[in-house]
Amino acid sequence: MPEHGDMPEWNPSARAETPTPPQPIEWNSQDVDEVKRKLITANHILHHHGVVDGYGHISVRHPSHPDKYLMSGYLAPALVSSPDDLIEYWINDSSPVSPHAKKGYSERFIHGIMYAMYPKVNCVIHSHAEAVLPYATSGVPLMPVIHMAGFLGNNVPVFDIGDSYSSSCPDEQQDLLVRTAKLGIHLAEKFVKTPRDPSFESHFPPDPDYSVVLMRRHGYTTHGRDIETAVYRAIYTKINATAQTNSMILRGALPPGVKAKFELEFLTDEMCRGCSRMNEGTHDKPWKLWVAEVENSSLYTNRG
Ligand SMILES: [Zn+2]
Repeated sequence: MPEHGDMPEWNPSARAETPTPPQPIEWNSQDVDEVKRKLITANHILHHHGVVDGYGHISVRHPSHPDKYLMSGYLAPALVSSPDDLIEYWINDSSPVSPHAKKGYSERFIHGIMYAMYPKVNCVIHSHAEAVLPYATSGVPLMPVIHMAGFLGNNVPVFDIGDSYSSSCPDEQQDLLVRTAKLGIHLAEKFVKTPRDPSFESHFPPDPDYSVVLMRRHGYTTHGRDIETAVYRAIYTKINATAQTNSMILRGALPPGVKAKFELEFLTDEMCRGCSRMNEGTHDKPWKLWVAEVENSSLYTNRG
């Protein structure tokens, strides 16, 4: 303990370093085995945090072949345990690279189309997390209510697959799954502000405008430039949804004569920008914790 006389003088203008996003990793400079191992771990983390259950999935762009992506075969994410459980797909049509590939997820078009449209997206996550579902079913907008969810922004778009079903195709099974390229395109288009203009060859920015899109009656999809960013967004979308729901319930349950001390307000656009930078500048810290949690749970195995 320092002597009292050693203490620095009180400095009211002192401030800590501002957390800013680190330099993005060169995605294609990574070792493919390392990426596969991290993808398996990410499957476990998403399960451990209730982002996925038996359903839901995560994929990554192949680090050495940007025209391919990797995701688990037809398995619950918690049970993915080996690189052999992963399947390589072509981005252009989401068909498996190997003709002998095992059965895969029918909703892989969510992933393939995101990589095809947005070159800076290297990881995609799709979830039916219970806490987020009320915002996919009620019409109440999902808003950023806490500083850890600045990435949500003040307009989380909603994709309604009902608008994409064609009345001229009576055989189409309307199960709400994104099981075709056409449905994948309609979902991926929701990640940008400006509507699609087919007269432009490259009408999409390399990076989407929105980090999360809600899927009506279904769930949500998010993405990132790397696995850590996408996992962070998937988890904190869920945490923010819980905080927003509980805040609204609490306000509605005020006993007679008790007045709330302040209004339920959301992050401003400026707060969203600042928090988003802070989130991306610090998510290496929870990532290490999340890895340790799943490595110390006997449910999960990673032979990658
Ligand atoms: Zn789904």
